[in-house]
Amino acid sequence: MKLAAEQKIKSLRQQIRKHDYLYYVLNQPRIPDQKYDKLFSELKNLEQRHPELITPDSPTQRVSGRPIEGFEQVKHSSEMLSIDNTYSADELRDFDQRVAKGLGTKNYSYIVELKIDGVAMSLRYEKGLLVLGATRGDGSKGDNVTNNIRTIKAIPLSLDGDVPDVLEVRGEVYMPKKAFEKLNEEKEQQEQALFANPRNAAAGSLKLLDAKITAQRKLSFFAYSLGQTSIPFAKTHYESLEKFKKIGLPVNPNIKKADNIEQVIEICDQWEKRRFKLDYQIDGMVIKIDSLDQREILGATGRAPRWCISYKFAAEQAKTKVLSIDVQVGKTGILTPVANFEPVLLAGTTVKRASLHNFDEIDRLDVREGDTVMIEKAGEIIPQVIEVKKEQRHKDAKPFRPPVKCPVCGSKVQKDEDGVYIRCASPSCPAQLKEKLRYFAGRDQMDIENLGPALIEQLVDKGLVQDFADLYKLDIFALASLERMAQKSAQNVLDGIEKSKSQPLARLLAALGIRHIGIQNAEILARQFDSIEKIKKATVEELTQIEQIGPVLAKSIYEYFHDSNNLKIIDKLITAGVNPKQKQTKHSDKLAGKTFVVTGTLENFSRSQIEQAIKDNSGKVSSSVSKKTDYVLAGTEAGSKLDKAQQLGVKIIDKKQFLEMIGK
Ligand SMILES: [Zn+2]
Repeated sequence: MKLAAEQKIKSLRQQIRKHDYLYYVLNQPRIPDQKYDKLFSELKNLEQRHPELITPDSPTQRVSGRPIEGFEQVKHSSEMLSIDNTYSADELRDFDQRVAKGLGTKNYSYIVELKIDGVAMSLRYEKGLLVLGATRGDGSKGDNVTNNIRTIKAIPLSLDGDVPDVLEVRGEVYMPKKAFEKLNEEKEQQEQALFANPRNAAAGSLKLLDAKITAQRKLSFFAYSLGQTSIPFAKTHYESLEKFKKIGLPVNPNIKKADNIEQVIEICDQWEKRRFKLDYQIDGMVIKIDSLDQREILGATGRAPRWCISYKFAAEQAKTKVLSIDVQVGKTGILTPVANFEPVLLAGTTVKRASLHNFDEIDRLDVREGDTVMIEKAGEIIPQVIEVKKEQRHKDAKPFRPPVKCPVCGSKVQKDEDGVYIRCASPSCPAQLKEKLRYFAGRDQMDIENLGPALIEQLVDKGLVQDFADLYKLDIFALASLERMAQKSAQNVLDGIEKSKSQPLARLLAALGIRHIGIQNAEILARQFDSIEKIKKATVEELTQIEQIGPVLAKSIYEYFHDSNNLKIIDKLITAGVNPKQKQTKHSDKLAGKTFVVTGTLENFSRSQIEQAIKDNSGKVSSSVSKKTDYVLAGTEAGSKLDKAQQLGVKIIDKKQFLEMIGK
């Protein structure tokens, strides 16, 4: 029985690893997500039944343990060198001459790699198991970020096949462009500072003390060089990369061999033009001598090796003219200045506008309507004004003054306490309403098909919709009376609205546009409270007790649900038939037939949460200890109930043991 389970577990892990590799490394998934999820939950269930078979390299163990207090410094077994930069073909030719001179021969070859713009990382595998992930730091010492590294699915927790007892691999942790955009979108919704580029986002994600959050950040990894090994691993760099692939490490597919520097230059030129097509950011190329013996001969100068050089791409910039500066009103009333440009081609797309972020930024740049400016894409993604060509400014150009009134509704504006944002404070501002409705209907929220910006514009301007709930009162006649709206498309809109009523609670919570509450926090709330009714009653204290919900979020949630206007709209939504409850998750019967008494204080859990967890797993909760009690779950400062349990010989468990029982 146990042997069968052991074999099944082994086979499931192998399958999951294979599919992780296909999906996260090769980008070639072979099975649908649901099938993968099924394999995963099958493994999880089996491991729960046989906890003695759980190993640290199991795919279920990527996120484990609690948030840490800080990062421990670790010494690298061999220095993580930095690389000298070059910026032109001639500088590359100079490098080549130094190499030829150093080696005393022309008989050598180069490996040319993409320079992924991320965070350099050293991974240490012992007996094939990942034991350490450390940042480069100052080259000799870095931060131990193993917990966070383990969440990156492109990084295998264990290696395949025959590997040296000690194998150190260096590579780059990076955030794909899509994940970066998504993360910034989410940050914007929550009014948090955005990451300037994917590299900063990757670095920030690795510095999180809670690996659970890192796991959501969709980081990835490419291995690109060898560190310390217990036995010689390869004779050439190329051979080591080929071996990396064989043992399951992700290696960038665009690595090329070059026989001389002119070939190197040609490869660099090609990538300088093609780089925007990649789904991750590169900021140049890295050129390395292939033979490891020849590297030894060349050695290093100070911190940088003589056998390696980078070729950095010039940041692509474009010159254009600011035609006008608009002020937009966001869903929370924030006024954002936006520059409209003469259209210009930049890093693969035509750019017509860019956010100027806030009025302090306008002051800092001193950008004015009519100015000639240089623009660049932050992280090759978001266009930004980086410089104003003041010498080309028209003598009549006037500084841009922040508005004192909302450009849409004319209400007086207010400056935020921290002084950066200016807001329209009017609750009836149509610009805010339109933004809120757009957000409400958005893909990550209520996902109402066919309810696009143009339609929302008309619905608000015609006074048909004054809040979210009004959407659910629309009928075919009202809709069909609008411009460009035939009977059939009106019906499609109504169908979309109808369908949105059954969206899960988390989406409804996200859709309400509560400050700082994006879909991820909404999911946490939905899981904790399982109905709008319960969230309404939650105190700031109860909210703060939830892991991941800090005091700022707690206050924002509490205030939202204690505003009579908001409550009115929520009531209207519920009356209209929108689902206000968390759909019941399937209960487990892990605690079936067992009676628990909970006593004392349990860190990070309220009494009601623990009791709910017992019930969710089919256990019973009792308030007094008797012979019928199976377990007393005791926290700190447990009083008389603990004494009684000891007298009666009832089994006493702590929080950790309890969480293990329910498989958390
Ligand atoms: Zn306004």
